[in-house]
Amino acid sequence: MRSLPLTPIAGSAAAAGAPGTTADAPAATSAAARRAAMPPRHLADLDLAARSALLAELGEPAFRAKQVSQHYFGRLVRDPSGMTDLPARSREHIAAALMPPLLTPLRELACDGGATRKALWRLHDGSLVESVLMGYPDRVTVCISSQAGCGMACPFCATGQAGLTRNLSTAEIVDQAVYMAGAVANEPMPTSPPRLSHVVFMGMGEPLANYSRVVAAVRRLTAPAPEGLGLSQRHITVSTVGLVPAMHKLADEGLQVTLALSLHAPDDDLRDELVPVNQRWKVAEVLDAAWRYADRTGRRVSIEYAMIRDVNDQPWRADLLGSLLRGRSTHVNLIPLNPTPGSRWDASPKPVEREFVRRLRAAGVSTTVRDTRGREIDGACGQLAAAEVVS
Ligand code: SAH
Repeated sequence: MRSLPLTPIAGSAAAAGAPGTTADAPAATSAAARRAAMPPRHLADLDLAARSALLAELGEPAFRAKQVSQHYFGRLVRDPSGMTDLPARSREHIAAALMPPLLTPLRELACDGGATRKALWRLHDGSLVESVLMGYPDRVTVCISSQAGCGMACPFCATGQAGLTRNLSTAEIVDQAVYMAGAVANEPMPTSPPRLSHVVFMGMGEPLANYSRVVAAVRRLTAPAPEGLGLSQRHITVSTVGLVPAMHKLADEGLQVTLALSLHAPDDDLRDELVPVNQRWKVAEVLDAAWRYADRTGRRVSIEYAMIRDVNDQPWRADLLGSLLRGRSTHVNLIPLNPTPGSRWDASPKPVEREFVRRLRAAGVSTTVRDTRGREIDGACGQLAAAEVVS
């Protein structure tokens, strides 16, 4: 095994994992500074009742909240100037009170013949985040960010190298999906349905470290229009490094979303290095939380495993992983390691990967290798660092 350097990063896994910290507070900055950096309120932060109450305070008629929500979530109109059936004065009110611009597009890139598109956003405080849209024959998926940066410090992930800037607001999370839903509707992908159907929280950040806003975003994405975007809960995947208390909390939300666990190693020695939060919650504990999630929700848990040459891809690790997962309600997604700037590691060779798959399947564990989208535009797993425009 190659030894992996671990750079301690402020607000990192160790802080998030410290006993007594809440799932929402892993940032290094003070609570006041964090709040100061949050964006202004947006309608996607609020449920329909709260939107109605706010507009009533502004003297708008009762039906206005539904009307505006229908524009935003139903017709995917994100700019109030496009809501031409509203009186001009109401548009002004609403723009000021409920629809501040949250995401400024800095760059959009496409690859895979237009089937993968990445958007780079600047947020109101200058933070940069990214979203990636992926078209498949049967569905269109958007991969969205839940934090600017990430505090989990996984050494093979580009986002993990920069540390955490801040949590995104609920609306900053939702608006990425609404924007991409509009982009698909206006300009469908070459061989995919013309509608956004799936959302994965696999962009920048650790979703369960921004727990309450991520859960609110899931509710908004899945509430029927005009309250929300009307996606199926089963078409949403929340991916985590394994913040055990937050996994338990999510299991009790009464949601039907898929949970993906970034395992990357079946043994604590290696996982302590690859996923530093493992120093706080060990493999056995994190898998117990995953099985409890499966029991409570009836949803099969995905196990993510980046295949890193000579690091975590040995046959004995495949067998150990197989023995841990055998008989469980789970599916393994192997992810060929994507290159990240300055990283010394590569993806496992194909024959090694095939042997790993063979051993897992022999143990009765459902296993697939994830198709790696967006490599050329640094849009693939672990490549989202938003570093290119920081000059
Ligand atoms: N913080 C969350 C979600 C973001 S990353 C999590 O860790 O689960 C989504 C997936 O991409 C995770 O499984 C992550 O470990 C994986 N990943 C990160 N860097 C990668 C890389 N360079 N190559 C392949 N997968 C990577």
